[in-house]
Amino acid sequence: MSIMVLKAFAKTHQGLVRADNQDAYLVRAFPDGLLAAVADGMGGAPGGREASHHAIEVLDRAVSEQPRSIVDLERIVKRANRELYAWAHAEPRLFGMGTTLTVVQVHGEEVSVVHVGDSRAYRLRDGRLDRLTQDHAVAAELLASGLLTEAEALRHPQRHVVTRVLGPGSSVRLDVLVVTWRPGERIMLCSDGLYDVLDDTTIAEILSTHRGEEAVDRLVEESLRAGGPDNVTVILVEEEASDGR
Ligand code: MG
Repeated sequence: MSIMVLKAFAKTHQGLVRADNQDAYLVRAFPDGLLAAVADGMGGAPGGREASHHAIEVLDRAVSEQPRSIVDLERIVKRANRELYAWAHAEPRLFGMGTTLTVVQVHGEEVSVVHVGDSRAYRLRDGRLDRLTQDHAVAAELLASGLLTEAEALRHPQRHVVTRVLGPGSSVRLDVLVVTWRPGERIMLCSDGLYDVLDDTTIAEILSTHRGEEAVDRLVEESLRAGGPDNVTVILVEEEASDGR
C-alpha cells in the first residue's frame, strides 16, 4: 500500500453580520492519520463561544495525550459533553450553553465520524459531494420524516434550531459512523455558515476547480459575497499535491 500524505486546510471567518465568531475548529496530524473538527456555538443561548471553544479544547487535549490516532473518539466527545455540562452548572451565566461538534478522523482507508448538531462533513468522490452527516435541526428532521418537502425545509423558520447539541444535557446521543475513503477523494467539514448560503452544486464546483488553501479561501469568499450572515468555517482534507504543496 502506498502511503498517502494527508493535508488539511482550514479557514474561519466571523462573517459580515455577527458580532463575534462562535465557530471553532481543530486540525491535528498523527503519524498514521489526521483529525479535523468543527464546532459551532449554539446561538440564542449564552456561552456559545465558550461551548464551541471548550469542546475543541477537550479534543485537542485528548489528541495531545496520545502519539497515534484516537481509538475511541466517541468516548472523548462524551467527555467534552460532561465537561461542558458541569461547567454550565458551576457558572450560571453559561447555563444552557451548547455547541455542535463534527469530528472526522482519517486513518488509512477509514474515515471515522462522530457528530452532533448541524455542522456537516462531506466526502468528495468523483466530483460529487456525498454528505456524511445528518443535521440535528428541526427542519431537517421534519424533512427526514417526510413532513416537509426540501423546498419547505429550506425556508422553514426553525431550520436553524438545533435539536441535539453538546452541553445542555448530562448525556448526549451521538451519530457515529465509519466510511471508506479512496485515494484522490477529499473530505470537507463546515459550519452552517457555508451551506446555508452556498448550495451543494456551487460548493462542488469550487472544489473541483480549486485545491488546498485556494479552495477554502474561495469557499469563504463566496459565502461572504452571499452576505456572510453567519460565522463560517471550512476544513478541507486531501492528499498532498504531487508537487509537494
Ligand atoms: Mg453557524
